[in-house]
Order: sequence, then C-alpha cells, then structure tokens
Amino acid sequence: MNIIFLGAPGAGKGTQAENVSEKLNIPNISTGALFREAVAAKTDTGLKAKEYMDNGGLVPDGITVNILKERLAKPDCENGFILDGFPRTVPQAEYLEESGVVIDLVIDIYVPDDKIIERISGRRVCPMCGASYHIIYKPSHRGNICGRCESRLIIRDDDKPEVVFSRLETYHGQTEPLIDFYKNKGVLETVIGQEEVDDTSKLTFEVIQNFNAKTKIE
Ligand code: AMP
Repeated sequence: MNIIFLGAPGAGKGTQAENVSEKLNIPNISTGALFREAVAAKTDTGLKAKEYMDNGGLVPDGITVNILKERLAKPDCENGFILDGFPRTVPQAEYLEESGVVIDLVIDIYVPDDKIIERISGRRVCPMCGASYHIIYKPSHRGNICGRCESRLIIRDDDKPEVVFSRLETYHGQTEPLIDFYKNKGVLETVIGQEEVDDTSKLTFEVIQNFNAKTKIE
C-alpha cells in the first residue's frame, strides 16, 4: 500500500506517518528528514537545500525529485511506503504519476493556521535520531532529552517563528492545490487533526481500514 500524507507544516502528519509506518511495517519516507540528513552530512544536495529550508521555502523540484527517486529505489519500498512531505507541488505529484508510482490513498491532516502556530512553537526534535516531540502534546518522558536515543532535543531552525509564517504561506500557495489534484483522482481522505495525538491516530486508522474494506469488496 502506498500512502501520501498531506497537511500544513505542524499539522501532525509526520507523527501519523510514523505510526502508520510501524503498524503496516512499511517505510516512512520524509523528504524533509532526507534533506536534514544531507545538510548534516554536508553533501552537495544538503548545501543546496539548506538555503531554501532556512528561509521556509521549498527546495526546487529537480533536487527534491532526485533525493526521493534514490530513496524509492531501495528494496524496503517494494511492499509499499508512506510519503511524508512529498509531493509538495503539483509538478512533484505529476512526476510520481509519470514515473508509474501508484498512490492508493492520500490522507490530508487538516489543522487551522492559528493551531499550527501554537503547535510548531512547542515542537522539539532530536538531532540524532529524528524523533519529534511537543512540550505540551507529546512531551519526552525525559524532559529535554530524547526518550529514544538520549540526545538533547533542539528547536529546528525552520520552526523559529519568523520562518513558520513563511512556511505556512508556502504551504497555502504551493502545496494546498494538491488537495484538489488528489480529490479529482478519487484517492483523497481528510482527517481533522485533534487536540490529542491518539484521537487523530484513531481517525487515521479508520480511514485506512475503510480503504482496505472497500478494496476487498471491489
Ligand atoms: P518537513 O520536515 O517536511 O517540514 O520539511 C522541511 C523542509 O524541507 C521544508 O520546509 C522544505 O524546505 C524542504 N522540503 C521537504 N520536502 C520537500 C518537498 N517535497 N519539496 C520541496 N521542499 C521540501
């Protein structure tokens, strides 16, 4: 099963993508995480991507498609995968189609902008293993230390307030059109992001179960 998670930055799509990845035992591919790895490793791609990421803009489609293509070619993607943060533009979605990648389900996690700003300001991430927390909604049981690998948690550069507004603007301008793109293909389902992560997870799994039940009948 190939699933895309759509949603504004901070809507919680990364958390849902991780949950579903564990439950269905398929890899969760986050282009944002791939870029952060490339930045940390100071590769050519990382150096190019960083300037766009730091400004809250999108990395150009050509670079993004390449980093995704390399990842999708790995054998663990053969039985399905989750895309978190890709596509983010209509040309990226068209690239997937043209490459023959079949998308079974697109789950849009909807959260209004004012909630997004509140959420992003509390987000903390682990620079070592990539785990994501929120100081109120999903705190690490070790405080400011990662519960998974014991590194000190940080605020991502692009989660700083001045960048968040620009990321939301980018989302509404460039990524939101994908909602209609996938609605027209009949694969879009919307989940309203809830206060509690577990409640959003419940709704997300309902969508997946409904999809599985429907495809069995067909
Ligand atoms: P994320 O962790 O998904 O919020 O991504 C962090 C940053 O990486 C974004 O703000 C973009 O600058 C860049 N990025 C991630 N995925 C994409 C994509 N599909 N297209 C362009 N830029 C991306």
